[in-house]
Amino acid sequence: MENQHFCRQRHILLLIRDSKISNDHLLCEICNSLVAAPYYVCDSCKYYAHKSCTELPRQINHSIHPRHPLTLLTQKVFFCDSCKQNFKNTLCFSCIQCNFDLDVECAQMSNSITCPEGQEHSIRHSSHPHLLRHIERKINKDIKIECFACKSKALDSSSGVYYGCIRCNYFLHKTCIDELPQEILNTLHPHHGPLTLYARLFKCTCRLCDKKENHTFSYECPQCDFRLCVQCCLGEVRRTIRYEDHEHLLCFVEKIYTKLGDRCNAYNTNCNLPIISNCTEFDATISSAFRCLDCDFVLHLLCGPLPSTIKHEFHTDPLVLVELLIDDDSGEFYCDVCETERNPRIRAYYCHKCKYIVHVHCVISEIKNVLSGDLIDVKLKTVGEDIWTLPIEIDNAGVEALIELGRSFL
Ligand SMILES: [Zn+2]
Ligand SMILES: [Zn+2]
Ligand SMILES: [Zn+2]
Ligand SMILES: [Zn+2]
Ligand SMILES: [Zn+2]
Ligand SMILES: [Zn+2]
Ligand SMILES: [Zn+2]
Ligand SMILES: [Zn+2]
Repeated sequence: MENQHFCRQRHILLLIRDSKISNDHLLCEICNSLVAAPYYVCDSCKYYAHKSCTELPRQINHSIHPRHPLTLLTQKVFFCDSCKQNFKNTLCFSCIQCNFDLDVECAQMSNSITCPEGQEHSIRHSSHPHLLRHIERKINKDIKIECFACKSKALDSSSGVYYGCIRCNYFLHKTCIDELPQEILNTLHPHHGPLTLYARLFKCTCRLCDKKENHTFSYECPQCDFRLCVQCCLGEVRRTIRYEDHEHLLCFVEKIYTKLGDRCNAYNTNCNLPIISNCTEFDATISSAFRCLDCDFVLHLLCGPLPSTIKHEFHTDPLVLVELLIDDDSGEFYCDVCETERNPRIRAYYCHKCKYIVHVHCVISEIKNVLSGDLIDVKLKTVGEDIWTLPIEIDNAGVEALIELGRSFL
């Protein structure tokens, strides 16, 4: 006996296998299109629904979107996140919260390997909801094959081994599959187990570097909305940086894709003042930042904890981080590496013995090396950590006095 189905009033539906009466005014309650046999009916409620629609599950859990169940509903227009086709007034399995949709066929296509070993070679890959089959270039001459990972095109059989889903026009090089782990334990997000590799068409923002990408791979936490771009996930970034005013360890992000502007959370800094934030020093370092992955806390490179000393190839003595340095009374301040102007209110590296002073951005590769390293035996210094940090309005005599005081600590 077939399963029983019910209308909204919980009446048992009657199955009509073929109908002789015209029913072109009757709409399916589930998919909203015209009813045709076989269909289910509840006469007392005037409820009609296709047999195929009625038998669809109302909700599914799908490995391609593990965070939320996908709900069966009719969308006016939608774009299938697997096969990339546009659909109108059609049923789909959808996560409204994430704007993630699969058409019914894509959602229900099996991802289990049923064919016996060796007959037709298929693999399962975390990035796609369907099995990927070995693509024979000789047989599939007419389809355009492009590897989703490296974007190179398979023009003939010399271009490597490909696996793919022809329905979704989704292909991967065997070598690309081998290079990218499908699951990876990442110390940047240790609480929820491994991050999983997915192919995403839209709206991918990396939690670490803020890069926004379409048609890209993304490593995602199956339990929360944490996501990293491939470079950040496979890169060497660690949570190692302690900042005294923040409870979590910070990461040093060498290249951040959004402008921090006034989002900087630094304590005791003046980066929100136009006179400070519009100078060369900020412009030249704006692409790097310190960032917390547990909350929204973020710092400009110049406002964050920097190595208290560095070694620069052009200068024999170590250079010391200073916060305000007026090295003569000419009123003009220059960097000894690039010989362009320097804003004396902004941190710089200084050798007291040689009166040698350089912009932070002129020794940036040394700083990046230190910050990306293990930071053992490295002292980082926060803005305002030294007693000679000065309020901006202080007069010249006061500046001189405080600098002298500061020098006695160097
Ligand atoms: Zn689809
Ligand atoms: Zn969702
Ligand atoms: Zn597919
Ligand atoms: Zn990233
Ligand atoms: Zn998570
Ligand atoms: Zn935090
Ligand atoms: Zn700042
Ligand atoms: Zn310079």
